[in-house]
Amino acid sequence: MARPLRADIDLDALRHNYCLARDQAPESRAVAVLKADAYGHGLVACARALEDLAPAFAVACLEEAETLREGGIAAPIMLLEGIFEAAELERVEALGLWMAVHSDWQLEALLTYRPARPVPVWIKVDSGMHRLGFAPERAEAVWHRLAAAPAQACDLHLMSHFATADAEDDAYFARQTARMKALAERLGAPLCLANSPATLARPESHGAWNRPGVMLYGSDPLEAANPVSRRLAPVMTLRSEVIAVRELAVGEPVGYGGRWTAARPSRIGVVACGYGDGYDRHAADGTPVLVEGRRACLAGKVSMDMLTVDLTDLPDADIGSEVVLWGRAANGEALSVDEVARHCDTISYTLLTGVLPRVPRRYHGAD
Ligand SMILES: *Cc1c(COP(=O)(O)O)cnc(C)c1O
Repeated sequence: MARPLRADIDLDALRHNYCLARDQAPESRAVAVLKADAYGHGLVACARALEDLAPAFAVACLEEAETLREGGIAAPIMLLEGIFEAAELERVEALGLWMAVHSDWQLEALLTYRPARPVPVWIKVDSGMHRLGFAPERAEAVWHRLAAAPAQACDLHLMSHFATADAEDDAYFARQTARMKALAERLGAPLCLANSPATLARPESHGAWNRPGVMLYGSDPLEAANPVSRRLAPVMTLRSEVIAVRELAVGEPVGYGGRWTAARPSRIGVVACGYGDGYDRHAADGTPVLVEGRRACLAGKVSMDMLTVDLTDLPDADIGSEVVLWGRAANGEALSVDEVARHCDTISYTLLTGVLPRVPRRYHGAD
């Protein structure tokens, strides 16, 4: 039999989560953020599954947009960081993309370009993230220059990104929102602000467009879950099996460095999944997994191709038992990628985007 590890992708769950994002903001349109191979879930498959629901998709770069077009996706695609060099404008035009403009050099490149049709432009404003974008004072002049260049730019929007929308303390979030609303009012400009946490929990930030990302994949982005975020369904299930079982006496260690030691006579299950598959090597002892849909704990350091779990309290578990690293087990039990991430001192985003190409993806639903 083949190595049992795989990533099952539930495209119906993806659609369910998209509908939650959409229904949370009935006055907005939701561009589905599909960057980084749809957060590790497969760019084209996810776009196809959302095609009849989402009016537009967003990616990080031209190459990702090209993959979508080659996959037959005709919907508008937003380049969240715009172009990386002026020469990309030809492809932006040919593929009919929407483009963020965050820097003076991008602005000048666009204004000196002669497209056959103007490019829809999203002016990126730095309202407080201090990563990309024009300072609010500058953004006004950028807007006016683009508005005066109808051969180059059309459908002008303002966009900005929140640094703290997930946090319970909303002081900084409120500052960013206020800056953007003041600017939008002066210009009569449509806004695109909300990421997943703002889509879920900050209706005051909802604009003409929102940009939900991680919530589409079923991860709860909020520091404190709310009734809607609790309804998010996991899209990826990282699934494997127990491939060997060891009986250990008290005091016997497991794995590299002997980090975990048996405090009682123990049964250890060896699971076909390791950091060579993208499972986080920082996972601590006690990181939860589901074995036949019941909780068990990681015991010992993660290896490249294997990890070890304590099966002592699951006497029925044996070679061939299903192991879910995150997602939904065959019996319906769920283990959230957010919970696993906390045990790895990271966030769901790194675990989901970190699943390596060695792991086969299997798609279910949405056909
Ligand atoms: C990734 C990204 C998003 C989506 O963020 P989530 O936290 O995944 O919802 C939205 N906007 C921009 C600019 C992004 O880079």
